[in-house]
Formats: sequence, structure tokens, C-alpha cells
Amino acid sequence: MISIKGLSKHFGDLQVLKDINLEVEKGKVIVVIGPSGSGKTTMLRCLNILEIPTNGHITIENKQLDFSKKVTKKAITDFRKLTGMVFQSYNLFPHKTALENVMEGPITVKKQSKEIARNKAIELLNKVGLGDKIDYYPFQLSGGQQQRVGIARALAMEPEVMLFDEPTSALDPELVGEVLKVIKALANEGMTMIVVTHEMKFAREVADEVIFMDGGYIMEKGNPQNIFTAPKEERTQQFLQLIQ
Ligand code: ADP
Repeated sequence: MISIKGLSKHFGDLQVLKDINLEVEKGKVIVVIGPSGSGKTTMLRCLNILEIPTNGHITIENKQLDFSKKVTKKAITDFRKLTGMVFQSYNLFPHKTALENVMEGPITVKKQSKEIARNKAIELLNKVGLGDKIDYYPFQLSGGQQQRVGIARALAMEPEVMLFDEPTSALDPELVGEVLKVIKALANEGMTMIVVTHEMKFAREVADEVIFMDGGYIMEKGNPQNIFTAPKEERTQQFLQLIQ
């Protein structure tokens, strides 16, 4: 479903991603771990084309972008619709209610009618447990509730793949569980997802495959059992010792 081949990304002279190769099957949950600065966020942002990769190919479903050539704005806009991104800092519109935040993309990008977008947004806010908060503004919601609006907003665009960039790292500890519960429910429904997280318990429970990144490379990948209990690479062992 997702195929990444030879992906690289430079910021000026700094090479942040180096020859990333990854295949993800439909319905699988990939958890990405690794030290700060290893390129995890940049890899997700490249998949959502919030960053333009320097080189490589990305294929999602039957759409491919080849970054060895110039890609058009239209191709990027079309490709971006395939993925839904959930950010660490929620990135909600502060002057819009939960409902309006979720309706915004379908109306402006997908050109859905207000009525259809509204019905779908209510359904999604119910799904993330916020059916009674649809008219609240972000400042009236807890961090965990805001992040659940963020998830509903990404789902409203009906993406093929959900990308989560440290979705719980800005939250107070007591609010982490409610957000992970929503992500787990999506995984159980068969949503294809790539999740960057430091929540190792979540990774063990939900990941089909864990990827360890370091220095812009995928250093090691495998099922959670293997990565957490018998990592092969020394860097993976060191990282896991530090965080567990
Ligand atoms: P991680 O998510 O693993 O912490 P990032 O992908 O955020 O890593 O960052 C990888 C490296 O890329 C870091 O050295 C970071 O400083 C650098 N970087 C990220 N975004 C930019 C940018 N827009 N411009 C310059 N350097 C960047």
C-alpha cells in the first residue's frame, strides 16, 4: 500500500534522511521510534509532502511521486489527500469550534456541501468521544480533547493512511490514555497508520512493525517482540536501555 524507495531529504547542507526504504501493507500499524533529531518527523512530513524530499519515490495506493524529477503543485495537492496528519501540537484553528475545525477541510478542499460535511463531522466527533463538545472552542477543551478533535479532523478527509507525529507528547500524563485509546480503536478497524511515538507500551500493544531510526537511517525494523526483547543493532539496544 505504501512504498518508499531511496528517500532522502536535505535541509541545505544537512542531510536529515538517508536512503529510506519502507514497504507498508494495507491495514498495518507501523510505529517509528528513535532518538530526537533522527529524522522521524521529517520522514512523516515527507509522506504528507509538507516537506519536499530531495530524492526518491513514494507510492501510496496507485499514486506515485518521483522526486528525482520536478513534481507539480497539482501532483502534490492530489498526493496529500491520501494521508491524514495528526500533529504533536494539535494545530487546530483557535477561532473555530470543534465542529467547524472538522468541517473545514471537507468543505474547502473536498468541496463537500455544508450539510454533508456537518453530518460527517458530528459522526467523527462522536467516534472520538466528543459528541457533547462539538460547539466548544479549542481553548475550552483539554489537550487530550483537542488532540481527539485533531484526529477527527484528519479522518474527515477520508485518507488512505493516517500519520501521527508524537500525538501524545504535549499532553499531561493523565490525558495520554484517552488519545491512545482512540488511535488503538482506529488500528483495530484496520486503518493503515504510521505512528511516531515514545509510548513504548502502546508500541508493543498496537504495532505490527516497529522501526528504529537513527541519524537519518532506518537502522532496524521488526515485530515489536523482536525489537523490544532482542534488538540486533547496538544503537537500538542503547536507545531502548535509555528509555525503558
Ligand atoms: P526527530 O523527529 O527524530 O526528532 P526531525 O525530523 O524533527 O527528527 O529532525 C531531524 C533533523 O533535521 C534535526 O537535526 C533537525 O534539526 C533538522 N531539521 C528538521 N526540520 C528542519 C528544517 N525545517 N530546517 C532545517 N533543519 C531541520
